[in-house]
Amino acid sequence: MDEFELYKRAGEAVKRALEKGKELIKPGVSLLEVCEEVEDIIRKLSDGPAFPCNISISYEAAHYSPIPNDTKKFPEKGIVKLDLGAHVQGRIADSAISVLLSPNPKHEKLSNAVKEALEKALARAKPGLPVSAIGTTISATIKKHGFKPIRNLGGHGLSPYIVHNGVSIPNVPERLPFKLEPGRAYAIEPFGTNGAGYVVEGKEVTIYSLNPRPPRNWELKVGEDKDLVDIIEQRFKTLPFSPRWLVDVYPYEKLKEKLSKLVKAGVLYHYPILIEAKKGEVAQWEHTIFVFEDRVEVTTR
Ligand code: MN
Ligand code: MN
Repeated sequence: MDEFELYKRAGEAVKRALEKGKELIKPGVSLLEVCEEVEDIIRKLSDGPAFPCNISISYEAAHYSPIPNDTKKFPEKGIVKLDLGAHVQGRIADSAISVLLSPNPKHEKLSNAVKEALEKALARAKPGLPVSAIGTTISATIKKHGFKPIRNLGGHGLSPYIVHNGVSIPNVPERLPFKLEPGRAYAIEPFGTNGAGYVVEGKEVTIYSLNPRPPRNWELKVGEDKDLVDIIEQRFKTLPFSPRWLVDVYPYEKLKEKLSKLVKAGVLYHYPILIEAKKGEVAQWEHTIFVFEDRVEVTTR
C-alpha cells in the first residue's frame, strides 16, 4: 500500500468513528461510554487509536480524555469537541467535530464560523503554501463572524507514529518558517471562542506519551518502573495514550503515581487539559490533509 492509501485508511476510520460519536453525544450520556464506543470503531477499522479520544466541553478546549471508571456525563448545554485519531502503520488521521448539546443560536454561530474557517483553509491549501497563509485565512474568517481564533492552539505536521512533528500551522497570522510539502500529511484545526482567545493549562492530566528522546541515564532514574516504560513502548510507541489502556498492568491510583514519576524523570510527556483563559465557549473543527506534488487531498472526509 502506498503512503497516501495508509493515510486514507486511517482517515476513513476516524470519519466513521466521528459519525457514530455525533449520534451518541447527548445530555446525560456517559463520556466514557461514548469514548469506548468510538475507540472500538477505530480499532476495528485501523491499527488503533493514534491518541485517546478527546472529549472537551464548553470552555475546555482540548486534552480531556475520560479516565478509568470516569463518571462524568454530558451536561444539558454547551459545545462538545470530539477529537479522534487513528493510525495505519503509524500513518495518522486526526479529525475533530463540534456538537451542540442543546439548540443555541450563539453556539451554532460560533461552531459555523470555525467550520467555515476550516473549509476556507482547506480550499486554500496547496503544495508549497506557507503555513502563515492558512493562519491568516482562519483568523480572518473567525473574526468576520465576531469571534476570536485561539492563538496558542493550531494545526501540525504528522509523521509516522508522531502526532506533532514540530511543524506548526497557526490559527492567527503568524510568520512561521514552514510550507506545505509534497509527500507529507498535516492536521489543520481552527479553534474559535467568545472568550479571551488563548488557552491555559488546567490541573487535570488524562493523556501521556513516551518522550522519543529521553534524558541520558533515564533507566537509572526510573529503576523498577523500567518495566512499565517497556510496556508503554511496546503498546503505543511514541503515540499518546490513556491510563485506561494500562489498568491491566496496575490499578489506576498506583498507575497515576508511576506515570507522574515518569513525567518528572523526563521519560514521558504529559498533556494537561487546556482551558479557555476567560472560560469562553470554544468550538473546533479539524481535518487531515495529504499533500501531493500537484494537489492536496483531505483524508478524513
Ligand atoms: Mn485533533
Ligand atoms: Mn490535531
